[in-house]
Amino acid sequence: MVRPLARQKEARWDTRWRYLILDGYVDEPAALGVPPYISPQARSIAGGLVCGGAPRDRVGYLTVDQWRMSRGKEGGRLPFEGLEAVIILSGCVVPGKYLRGTPISRREVMELVSSLDAPLVVITGSAAGQNSGPGMEICQGDPGVMGEGISASGRVISSTRSIEQWNTHLKEGAFISSLHPDHPSPLICEIETSSGCPRFISGGCSFCMEPGRGPVRFREPDDIATELRELASWGVENVRIGGQSDLMSYLSPDVGRLEVPRPDPEAIRDLMTGVRSALHDGKGVKDAVKRGRRIGIDCGIIHTDNANPSVIAAYPETSLEALSVIAGECTSGSVLALGLESSDPDVKKLNNLNSDAEEVEEAVRLINRAGGEYGDNGLPRLLPGLNFLGGLPGQTPESFEFDLELLGSLLDGKLMLRRINIRKALFPDSRGQYTEKTLSREVEAAFGRFRKRVRDEYDRGFLSLMLPPGHVLKGVMVEAASGHVHFGRQIGSYPLLVGVEHRAEVGEFIDVAVTDISSRSVTGFSTPFFLDRASFSDLLALPGIGRRRAAELFRSVPEGCPHPEKLFPDHPWVLPHLRCGKG
Ligand code: SF4
Repeated sequence: MVRPLARQKEARWDTRWRYLILDGYVDEPAALGVPPYISPQARSIAGGLVCGGAPRDRVGYLTVDQWRMSRGKEGGRLPFEGLEAVIILSGCVVPGKYLRGTPISRREVMELVSSLDAPLVVITGSAAGQNSGPGMEICQGDPGVMGEGISASGRVISSTRSIEQWNTHLKEGAFISSLHPDHPSPLICEIETSSGCPRFISGGCSFCMEPGRGPVRFREPDDIATELRELASWGVENVRIGGQSDLMSYLSPDVGRLEVPRPDPEAIRDLMTGVRSALHDGKGVKDAVKRGRRIGIDCGIIHTDNANPSVIAAYPETSLEALSVIAGECTSGSVLALGLESSDPDVKKLNNLNSDAEEVEEAVRLINRAGGEYGDNGLPRLLPGLNFLGGLPGQTPESFEFDLELLGSLLDGKLMLRRINIRKALFPDSRGQYTEKTLSREVEAAFGRFRKRVRDEYDRGFLSLMLPPGHVLKGVMVEAASGHVHFGRQIGSYPLLVGVEHRAEVGEFIDVAVTDISSRSVTGFSTPFFLDRASFSDLLALPGIGRRRAAELFRSVPEGCPHPEKLFPDHPWVLPHLRCGKG
């Protein structure tokens, strides 16, 4: 399926703006901020500016895609004067491919800076080093502290934050979400619960930046709920509890003492119930319900990310309790992404990796047990995702055989995996920039074969396990069109790309009956499917319908479509999805 890019809403310029946050997006192991997500970093900068004395209406926000759209009209110049500072957020070290936005490039940063009149231009975020150049200052410190320094004294301060500053900046910066082009829907606010990794005491995984943040710091459930209430008051409808290295270790008293801490189900319960009541009782969701949206399907989405499989496997009973709390409090379709990286025991040892294949299999089994039941949007409540890396020191062509063996075992055991992420490992160079290691030709080729096999066989296998023909995915938001084909996704973590080959309105929510599965996307038709409103080509979207049967169906509709069952001998499950105005 060819992925078109969804077009963002154009910027709403405000001539009162004195500080502009230009969001070039964030994609880090423990934070996502590519549309439809807005990162905690973007909100912290806004909160810092306000805490330093800037009135809210003086703080503006634009995505890089909105700047690209206006660039054509304004000849590259931002169409207002009087800016005191422009802050570019650049946190995609290796940009992936996204449906709703494209991260800022170094060339674009240079173009933007040369077109600005603002006395101060700052670039911040994990890719700031690689995207910086003349005419700008770099800030490698906390974005909220930086924002506070800029509005208070015009100075760029690169330092860490206290937990109090962290909470205050996020709360005070919640308003900026309302300027995001995806607000109110399908916007998702990424929520931070902690920083750092419990494995920092052993140095952590060889490739990871998280242990470098030092001892783990947690935000308390009340502080997170306070931020959520503020976000909800600005119309936010959807969140992901994704800003942490491991949700299972949340507030565990073992963190700092043990590398594999025992989960604290009560702390996780406090966190999740606080988030749920703040969001679902808030203005954003209430307004969405008034517009006819369904909580947990089209709005009010609460999803998760990142959990440590060795923690889950080491404490199965306590983990099951914690997982049941997460599955019960989040909305369906949520994911816990498990970082395995490699199943090869030698690679694990050499890179001080987190878990082995056996622990991952046990964690997958427990998450399936706690979250495998289907929920409101047609997906299981909570499923595991699995992360693999290529390019780790010690990896040989045989290493990928261990990975395939694990995937085969999960599939044979009919355990559901929501998604498999395969990336190249990145390591910091002497200038602190993250780059791939050059692989031997054999390892590169074996990695390519592994990736292809996973996409062709295993992705399809796990998707078929989860979505049998006729299964209904609810709340698919139509995002883009390519000819007669419309593409959409459900709101939430790792959404599947859904294609329907009939007319639909970009921006509308539809329920889709699945007809076909490819490696990372599904095809289907909107349900209920109104035969009397369908064009001849719309009818071709129904399974088993060629041009001859479509013509027969099209002719029979004015008579009330007396015998549709005759037209679907191989797909009788289609019938309950059909409606005809005349019968
Ligand atoms: S477990 Fe490894 S990859 Fe995950 S956050 Fe910790 S150090 Fe990084």
